[in-house]
Amino acid sequence: MNNIHSLDGQSGIVVADAGCILQTLQEYTAERGYLLPLDIGSKGSCQIGGNVATNAGGCYFNRFGGLHGTVCGMEVVLPQGQVIKLNLEGSDNIEGYGGCHRKDNTGYDLKHLFIGAEGTLGVITKVAMACPRLPNSKNVALLICESYAAVLEVLAAAKEELGEVLSAMELMDWSTLSLVQQHMSNKEEFMILNEILRFEGSQNQAPLYLLVETQGSNAEHDLSKMDSFQTRLFESSIISNGYIATDSKRIGSFWNIRESCNPSVALDGYVYKYDVSVPIEDYMEVAAEVKECLSSKASFPLAKVCVWGHLADGNAHVNVVTPGLFDKDEAFASYVDEAVYGSVLKRKGSISAEHGIGQSKRDILKRVKDKSALDVMVQLKAMFDPRGIMNPGKVLLSEGKSATSFDS
Ligand SMILES: Cc1cc2nc3c(=O)[nH]c(=O)nc-3n(C[C@H](O)[C@H](O)[C@H](O)COP(=O)(O)OP(=O)(O)OC[C@H]3O[C@@H](n4cnc5c(N)ncnc54)[C@H](O)[C@@H]3O)c2cc1C
Repeated sequence: MNNIHSLDGQSGIVVADAGCILQTLQEYTAERGYLLPLDIGSKGSCQIGGNVATNAGGCYFNRFGGLHGTVCGMEVVLPQGQVIKLNLEGSDNIEGYGGCHRKDNTGYDLKHLFIGAEGTLGVITKVAMACPRLPNSKNVALLICESYAAVLEVLAAAKEELGEVLSAMELMDWSTLSLVQQHMSNKEEFMILNEILRFEGSQNQAPLYLLVETQGSNAEHDLSKMDSFQTRLFESSIISNGYIATDSKRIGSFWNIRESCNPSVALDGYVYKYDVSVPIEDYMEVAAEVKECLSSKASFPLAKVCVWGHLADGNAHVNVVTPGLFDKDEAFASYVDEAVYGSVLKRKGSISAEHGIGQSKRDILKRVKDKSALDVMVQLKAMFDPRGIMNPGKVLLSEGKSATSFDS
């Protein structure tokens, strides 16, 4: 279940078993000149089938458009035992038909139902994914902004100046990077953090940090774009400071700092995790409102709010951590849930940008999802899995029953 079957040298479509580790697949395609268009922090352990089942987003969503755009074929075993091939080699009907194509418009595109279904409709056994060419050049800038207003100016400048080579735009706040530094074992990355954390914010605001990546086909052209982008930021004093990495070691260090956010915060205490979508201009507002709510909550006076995420997608990872306390407090969790979801819903945001529903957000789903859409989800679940054997209790409360049972 972890074989890589093929990589088509013309189309860039790679076909692999669902059990293939994401990083192994990334390395396999890179060795053959293609970029697997998915990268997430857990790449060393997660599997491509799990990534598709959870519709994992990651840092390149803005550039490549997510798995609904890049997954082009799939094999799935349904709960009743049928094996279905969706735009994949080996379809058992017409002889000679059934290869995997970038475009296949032959009726309902069923593969989309399994992307993000969290294993509630079937078991994905094979995945075909379209990969772009591996970029020849990559540059990463680490920028320090004194305020969120400055971050928005950097975002606008990045879209204008970097345009087609802009590949990722990640934001991290000061609370998060302080914890990353506290738990950083790599000496060089510790020194980078030491350097950037000494800058101060303005008007009682802690600074914010941006990681901006470009990927392209011409190193000279891409670097000159990055240079003029950074010059514009310095000349207009939008940033307090900025550093560019052009060699793979330093690029790796910058990305390791970003990928250390999640594990570092978890070393500090229990983390109440939220992953939300809001309008980009409101990106830091949810955290600000949660901080406000927490300041009036005497039971956890030291709770910290840490924010990082995929800025260009409006996707914020809002984390409330209770330093030194590693057990979940249910009453506190409900309190923080209300604070976060209240703030998100007020902004017409999404309560789950990329972390799905699972069990923890199952109950709030009925409050936020269109009732008719939820009815269709329940009907689909009942049709695919009438016995309710696929991840029971995940995403939907009642297996194979009508939506009215949500209201009881
Ligand atoms: C819903 C969800 C969304 C996530 N999104 C992101 C993200 O966008 N970015 C990020 O950095 N991290 C994300 N994570 C965290 C983690 O990186 C992902 O969980 C990872 O993609 C999952 O891969 P895995 O192999 O570890 O799956 P597991 O953790 O083993 O399984 C995750 C879920 O998928 C189901 N599943 C696993 N394999 C299959 C399969 N072959 N067929 C059908 N169902 C299967 C499981 O039953 C389970 O419900 C997400 C986690 C979840 C639960």
